[in-house]
Amino acid sequence: MDCPGIRDSYDVVVAGAGPAGTSAARFCAQEGLSTLCIEEHGTIGHPVQCAGLLSAAAFRECGVSDRCVIQTVRGARIVSSLGGSFSFDAGVVKAYVVDRGVLDREMALHAAREGVDYLLKTCATGFSGGEVETVGPSGKRHFRCRVLIAADGPRSRFSRIFGLERAKYFMGGRQVDCAHQVDPGLVEIHPDAAPDFFGWVIPAGKGYARIGLCSRTDVRSRFERFISPVRGPVISEVTGTIPLGPMPLTYARSVLFIGDAAGLAKPTSGGGVYTGIRSARHAAVVAAAAIRAGDFSRGSMARYQEAWKADFGRELALGLRFLSVRSHLGPADIGQICRVMDDPGVVSTIIREGDMDRPARVLVSLLRQRKMARLYGVFIRALAADIMNRE
Ligand SMILES: Cc1cc2nc3c(=O)[nH]c(=O)nc-3n(C[C@H](O)[C@H](O)[C@H](O)COP(=O)(O)OP(=O)(O)OC[C@H]3O[C@@H](n4cnc5c(N)ncnc54)[C@H](O)[C@@H]3O)c2cc1C
Repeated sequence: MDCPGIRDSYDVVVAGAGPAGTSAARFCAQEGLSTLCIEEHGTIGHPVQCAGLLSAAAFRECGVSDRCVIQTVRGARIVSSLGGSFSFDAGVVKAYVVDRGVLDREMALHAAREGVDYLLKTCATGFSGGEVETVGPSGKRHFRCRVLIAADGPRSRFSRIFGLERAKYFMGGRQVDCAHQVDPGLVEIHPDAAPDFFGWVIPAGKGYARIGLCSRTDVRSRFERFISPVRGPVISEVTGTIPLGPMPLTYARSVLFIGDAAGLAKPTSGGGVYTGIRSARHAAVVAAAAIRAGDFSRGSMARYQEAWKADFGRELALGLRFLSVRSHLGPADIGQICRVMDDPGVVSTIIREGDMDRPARVLVSLLRQRKMARLYGVFIRALAADIMNRE
């Protein structure tokens, strides 16, 4: 059975109704483009593959009410496995812990109100001759469109169809929501939980925490070790993948890749909602300009890559370098970093200049602090190991 109101032809078809796809569809509709958003699952926002921690700026980008907010967060505590820790508390709301399912559905509702058509339980399986091929409950179907926006997430089928080089790293993630007492205003970061990324304990409502980690290897055993001191019953479990490192080409003729499909999550945190929505904004502007000019060439689509790079490309490049160097820091180094950073001057710099979505500025400011000179040896050793590793 066909969904009522779904047509055979649109200006734009968006594959995937995550935060990036839904935002792109909404921005395209706001540009006056007829837009269809296709989602392979029957329920938008399900299954959840996210910790739901959004900076205040990322939350604003989502354009939703506070219905999805489970908890507000003011700062963080960084915990070394060797016993040291340091924390910062901005005293004001810096981030939100959200229910991603509720968030994604409210975002889709807003997009639908702007005129976006949604087609659920339908997989977009190909694109050729200006037609998107889909497979849904009533079989195969084709939709004509002038621009395809591929927002099909970490395993992006379309990036494979177009033979594009994919993200540099793929992090596996595992997480549970469970009964566990934590400081309700602080997120805990445990760098030693994974040698190439980190573990987290996020307050998730009274008496509950969201505990997880990401790593490139041994995710299950690392996670089991990390969670072993926790006794509270588990009420939900999440697994997922985060591609890190943008694809070298995030466009093709008539096609734009956004969000996780393009590898745009932040390498420092794995957060991809903010950059996904920012990339959706740029994709909608470029799609609208291409449609107005009737120019769908690679040159026309390349403006999208220029736009997202000008917006947050430097942050991703620095973040990737940081991630690579970070994998050469062991527990003793992390312990020393915690001890040195447990300092009022360092903490006030983080509070003043810290920005979850754009961490480069605070990292540079911190490295300039005199106190941090005590860590230069640690960083230079890790940097040297990273350089040797590349050669
Ligand atoms: C364990 C874990 C924790 C995370 N924590 C955070 C966090 O705290 N904060 C944060 O900002 N980010 C976090 N992320 C990353 C974040 O979840 C993603 O970056 C974000 O969801 C990317 O949005 P997206 O719209 O690009 O892709 P997705 O949210 O993956 O959406 C893609 C959509 O496309 C659909 N789809 C796929 N293929 C097709 C197809 N062929 N046809 C139709 N539909 C299709 C999928 O069903 C899905 O709904 C986390 C990720 C993981 C794995």
